[in-house]
Amino acid sequence: MSGGKVRVAFHTLGCKLNYTETSTIARSLDTGKYEKVSYDEPADIYVINTCTVTGAADRKCRQAIRKAARQSPNAKIVVMGCFAQLRSEEAAALEGVRLILGNQEKFHLAGYLDELSANPENVSAVPGTEISDVASGPIVHSCESMERSSFISSFSMGDRTRAFMKVQDGCDYHCSYCTIPLARGASRNQPVAECVREARVIADRGIREIVLTGINTGDFGKSTGESLHELLQQLIKVDGIERYRISSIEPNLLTSGIIELTAASDKLMPHFHIPLQSGCNETLARMRRRYRRELFEEKVAEIKKVMPHASIGADVIAGFPGESEEEFRSTYEFLENIDLSYLHAFTYSPRINTPAALMKPVVKSSDATQRSHLLQDLSGKMALRFALSNRGERERVLWESRNSNGLISGFTDNYIRVTTPSQEVEEGWITDVMLTEPDKNGGFIVTDL
Ligand code: SF4
Repeated sequence: MSGGKVRVAFHTLGCKLNYTETSTIARSLDTGKYEKVSYDEPADIYVINTCTVTGAADRKCRQAIRKAARQSPNAKIVVMGCFAQLRSEEAAALEGVRLILGNQEKFHLAGYLDELSANPENVSAVPGTEISDVASGPIVHSCESMERSSFISSFSMGDRTRAFMKVQDGCDYHCSYCTIPLARGASRNQPVAECVREARVIADRGIREIVLTGINTGDFGKSTGESLHELLQQLIKVDGIERYRISSIEPNLLTSGIIELTAASDKLMPHFHIPLQSGCNETLARMRRRYRRELFEEKVAEIKKVMPHASIGADVIAGFPGESEEEFRSTYEFLENIDLSYLHAFTYSPRINTPAALMKPVVKSSDATQRSHLLQDLSGKMALRFALSNRGERERVLWESRNSNGLISGFTDNYIRVTTPSQEVEEGWITDVMLTEPDKNGGFIVTDL
């Protein structure tokens, strides 16, 4: 406690959606009672919003919990989110963990913390109800309801230039490697009108860019009889927001209407992140993805035809069960010959209760890691090639915060990082910049503005 206030520290792992949700949950705490401190400082309560997308993500959750327990041995640790939802017993066994909240329950954190502070040893199952005896371990609240009607909205307000807005949650797909539908439930979204209202709130705070996030963002509208295309049509009418990006969209959900609207609007950024996962059709079939590589290729060509400078990134998984050398080569060659700007390469790791975890043959972990490194190298080449193709162009940059060396960075519409030592620009400004010579990472350092 400091000055009578309870010190609470938040830590988030995983995707942008999780960060967005932490931001909303942290805002819900009464600042008269709680003082928010950094996760690196001593605290009375640590709230860790977790991820379980890969084995590495699980490892990071355990490390984060142990770090909190080491730092403040008397602190109460709250573990919430996907790892909490799917691996609650494992979380409960870790030192210092007092409360475990699933993906819906975490939004009631303020209520749970009120009871936790009033009753140092106990917390009730549901805020406002009878206190449970938790002498034998932490309380676990998970999977309350993740039905289509249970969408809980969120948006981040962390920095002054860009906000992340959750428009969709859950997933109805059954990709054979993915545990997320178990952790996040059915696909659901908030209505277009509600998204527009939130965008206005974000605009009123002076934020210029919104990134639309979700688990399967392209599925937006399924639970309200609307569509992502309609959402974009309405959002671009909101005054004050200059830029929108879609965090990620499945290739089979990226419609021609969305591509055309993006090309026609200067508020929709020419930047698409499209999960490919494999460039080999046999591997895609085992992954139970809903497209063949030809569809992905068509989408990239369709975008480039109307927006030649669009940035297109892709997720790729290396070492999926049964991925032979030949299959990997097929993926690699496919990627080499397609006009992408970057890759996010992941090494496959089996997730419990997924069909892929039982598939054979398993790829040797050293081979999977080596393939992942090859994809990362390829991503570097793509980024440089993309930057060179933009050399000599004038691009709009939204400037973000200045670092301790006095440099300020921002992104172009097509998602190229630009850095300058110039004092002529400030955070939140959008200015035109001439892209002269790229650095080796595919960014640009500009001295004259
Ligand atoms: S689309 Fe597939 S990979 Fe993505 S969240 Fe849904 S099941 Fe998982």
